[in-house]
Parts: sequence; structure tokens; C-alpha cells
Amino acid sequence: MAEFVFPPAAQPSVAVAGTEARFPVRRIFCVGRNYAAHAREMGKDPDREPPFFFTKPADSIVDDGVTIPYPTLTRDLHHEIELVVAIGKGGRNIALGSALDHVFGYAVGIDLTRRDLQSEAKEMGRPWDWGKAFDQSAPCGAIAPVDATGHPESGRIWLKVNGETRQEGDLAELIWPVADVISICSRAMALQPGDLIYTGTPAGVGAVQPGDRLDGGIDGIGTISITIGEAIA
Ligand code: MN
Repeated sequence: MAEFVFPPAAQPSVAVAGTEARFPVRRIFCVGRNYAAHAREMGKDPDREPPFFFTKPADSIVDDGVTIPYPTLTRDLHHEIELVVAIGKGGRNIALGSALDHVFGYAVGIDLTRRDLQSEAKEMGRPWDWGKAFDQSAPCGAIAPVDATGHPESGRIWLKVNGETRQEGDLAELIWPVADVISICSRAMALQPGDLIYTGTPAGVGAVQPGDRLDGGIDGIGTISITIGEAIA
């Protein structure tokens, strides 16, 4: 055993439906603009340009049911409800036809976004990290193993804020389906067991405030509920 100069951080992890054992999170990849209606609402042409990715730190993962403090530096915190793919088997240059064999399971996640910082970064040609990769920016519900769900090709994906529907779409609308996303991501770097991929959000993203309750779900996969707490002092 290596010695450390101080105790290493706890392993970030996500609950797995039907077991006490948790899924150890290695990395979090996120796909940008993967639903045409959301690409349009962000002012972009939804033509089938190759998917692009950004990342969040593994320790930005937050469990279902948690209250997340309103983050610093923003006045425009947005919700993005997303299908999350949990990778159980690694690989590089994964063929499209075998890509789904690498999936451990699926979950419902929220890609919390400091939209004002992301917009500023886009305008200035800067990285998106400060808009996307902040503390507690990746709530994720329990992962449903593939045995339980199969590989969803369709299913309603939705998010409500304080009971009012804000986002609604269907997995069938994904511009780049899960197998494509896995195959393409694995060309950029070797995927590893424990990697999560947030696959993009349908239209209807918008701002949340302290005290708001967010409930989201994907038919056949699961649900997630979080509350936005008071701002970090
Ligand atoms: Mn997103």
C-alpha cells in the first residue's frame, strides 16, 4: 500500500437500484446539444454535426434526494435533465455494433449549468469548465442495471420544477444515440469501467432559484429529485 501525505478523498459513487453496492465513478463525460429542439433554443443549427463533449469532475456527483446549495458566481443556474450511461466495461475505438456491450446500466441525471458563465465562455472562446464543472453540478439518480432496463431506444424524458413541467422530450429524439456516443467518445480516449456519460438534454432548460424542488425522470429508467438550497455564503 502506498503511503499518502494525507488521507485520499473518498471514492465518488452512485447508488445502484436493487443492491446496497454502489457504482464507483471514475470520470464524467457530457455530450453537448444532442436534441435538435435544445440546439435550436441555444441558437445553434441542429444539423448532425459530430457530437462534442465536455467533462465534470467525478466528485461533482450528487445522490438523488439531496439539497444542493445555490452555487457561487452565477445568477442563472439552469437545469438540464439527461439520460446517463454508466460504463461497466472499458475499451478504446469501440465499434458501433458492440458499443452497448460496454454499458453497465442507465440513470437519470441533471447537468446543472451556470448558464451565464457558460455563455460568457462561449463568447470569449474560453473553456466551459466554470459554467459546467463546479461542485455538486452532477446530480444522478440510482443506476438501473441493463438486465432490468434493456437498452432504451425511446421513452419520455421530463423535468418539473415545483410541480410544473419545464422539460419534456423522448429518447428517440437523441441526435446521437447511446451506441454512437460510446463509440465516438472511445476514439478520443479509452473508456474505463466507472465512467459516466451524460447524453444531452431536451428543450426547455431554464433557471432555478433557492427553495426550488426539481423532479425528473425517464420512463423505464428511473427518477431523480433534488432541492436547490440557499446560496453558498
Ligand atoms: Mn447537458
